[in-house]
Amino acid sequence: MKANTKSVAPSRARLPGSWRCDYKKQYLCLRDAIGAADSYMDRVVITRAPMMPYYCPRHYCWHNGHNSRAPLGQAATYSMDCAARERLRKEIAFLSDVIFDFADPENESRHGFRFR
Ligand SMILES: [Zn+2]
Repeated sequence: MKANTKSVAPSRARLPGSWRCDYKKQYLCLRDAIGAADSYMDRVVITRAPMMPYYCPRHYCWHNGHNSRAPLGQAATYSMDCAARERLRKEIAFLSDVIFDFADPENESRHGFRFR
């Protein structure tokens, strides 16, 4: 008889009293959970389901997880919106850095711009 060699990482094991979300990152703020989900959806091209935040009453926080119950059309729209938000966040961060560099020209510019 072949032994069951399938292993589960200890942090994801279903232990007595543990929930499936015990190993997941906990976000106190929905905005942070949405940002993390957007970043994931922008980095990962193919997913089995869109990454969406959900509230966890056990941990009193937000987790991110794949929502395989989302209708296909809605999932596709959501995925495109996630990528668009993440790219807008990156653009805002870049432009904020440029403005910071412009406001204080004594700082070493991280973008190679010279303002003097
Ligand atoms: Zn939880």
